[in-house]
Amino acid sequence: MTSTMTNSMTSAHKSSFGEEFMNNLISRNPGEVEFHQAVHEVTESLLDFIEDNPKYKNAKILERMAEAERIIIFRVPWVDDKGEVRVNRGYRVEMNSAIGPYKGGLRFHPTVNLGILKFLAFEQVFKNSLTTLPMGGGKGGSDFDPKQKTDGEVMRFCQSFMTELSKHIGPNTDVPAGDIGVGGREIGFLFGQYKRLRNEFTGVLTGKGREWGGSLIRPEATGYGTVYFADEMLKTKKDSFKGKIVTVSGSGNVAQFTTEKVNELGGKVVTLSDSSGFIYDSNGIDADKLKFVMRLKNIKRGRIEEYAKKFGAEYYPNERPWKIKCDVALPCATQNEINKEEAQILINNGCICISEGANMPSTPDAVEVYLENKILYGPGKAANAGGVSVSGLEMSQNSLRMSWTREEVDGHLKRIMEDIHATCVKYGKKQDGFINYVDGANIGGFVKVAEAMLAQGLV
Ligand code: NDP
Repeated sequence: MTSTMTNSMTSAHKSSFGEEFMNNLISRNPGEVEFHQAVHEVTESLLDFIEDNPKYKNAKILERMAEAERIIIFRVPWVDDKGEVRVNRGYRVEMNSAIGPYKGGLRFHPTVNLGILKFLAFEQVFKNSLTTLPMGGGKGGSDFDPKQKTDGEVMRFCQSFMTELSKHIGPNTDVPAGDIGVGGREIGFLFGQYKRLRNEFTGVLTGKGREWGGSLIRPEATGYGTVYFADEMLKTKKDSFKGKIVTVSGSGNVAQFTTEKVNELGGKVVTLSDSSGFIYDSNGIDADKLKFVMRLKNIKRGRIEEYAKKFGAEYYPNERPWKIKCDVALPCATQNEINKEEAQILINNGCICISEGANMPSTPDAVEVYLENKILYGPGKAANAGGVSVSGLEMSQNSLRMSWTREEVDGHLKRIMEDIHATCVKYGKKQDGFINYVDGANIGGFVKVAEAMLAQGLV
């Protein structure tokens, strides 16, 4: 357990139920620190609510939700371009199917392990419930690193991965999508192999290409949704993105479309990053510069440092962008990328709003800083739910064998993000008017799943 976890758990320990639950969880899932962190955050929000509603406590709903329905771990052998045999590990965590088929992305990154995927799958259950669509929660992936691999190597890996995964998924069972390291190219290879093995053209994955069952706006959805959610939060203060200085981390799918939408709403994005460092462009990353980033990252698969060389911007190797003064911060790279000190720097520099495009990018003590200072803080499970929402809409279009226009899908996405915001306000508004979006998202996401589990008996 990290020291921040130990510190922030003291308040949960005030409740013997919370203490016993967390101690049990940690001893049953040793070493899975990100999973402990995600469950602990949810538990803190839910303790009072569960005490007030003994039906959930008696049926051990929280204990059941923290135990995956099924986890599949498998060998992924493949051959690289030199003819060498390589072996990776594949996973699918099928966390909860109370309200629909398991749904959640696949992550290909060398840091992937069981604890990280369990944290992501656990978060996904609440997120999917918030979207108002009928989707359960899951997550999967591999420690395979697509960086510096040729298209042929990525294809052979994806084919081997899907050869096993295909036995466990299906359009009414489990519908994976993309995440870090899994974009349009990987979804294509995975879908092709599923189709070959099963002889079925079906909506078994989302994030597919437009020509073969994909939805318009799916690539944009997580980034756009993160900005729509931030915009809803700003509206509660009668404010907007107009003229705001915005820091964004990451430079992949979510960061790119977050930047595009901020530009559209009149804000100025001044940073982007990757795992090697960040760039600062005080003139703003406009549409033309963003086009360069998209080419650099999606086609050339290069490093963000090249942006600085091309446009004369500043480059900070091995650093994160949070020391740059901003009004709004949109973390869109990875988990635990804002710590307590960085959270404090953001606040000291006048940041009023944080909306998380990434999953759990803020450490627990960073979140405490936001809440103490009562800024607008949208946690990932609410703020980045736009991606899975449009995945849900892709599933609907596949079932109907129809495709909706860009405007129709974007309209649905915007409405869903407004609904998620309203749910957070409903469950998170405190007596003094402060909206605690963490509590709002956790309780709002919990109720629907908990009720479904109660109705379905001991599942
Ligand atoms: P991409 O693979 O497209 O981009 C990831 C970006 O984050 C890259 O710039 C990458 O840099 C950077 N990054 C990854 N790992 C690290 C790390 N350990 N340290 C620093 N930077 C890192 O992924 P997405 O944009 O799809 O995902 C970004 C985040 O958004 C993740 O947290 C994901 O779970 C979350 N998310 C994504 C959704 C989606 O629809 N895609 C839906 C909901 C949430 P580099 O290129 O150097 O690896």
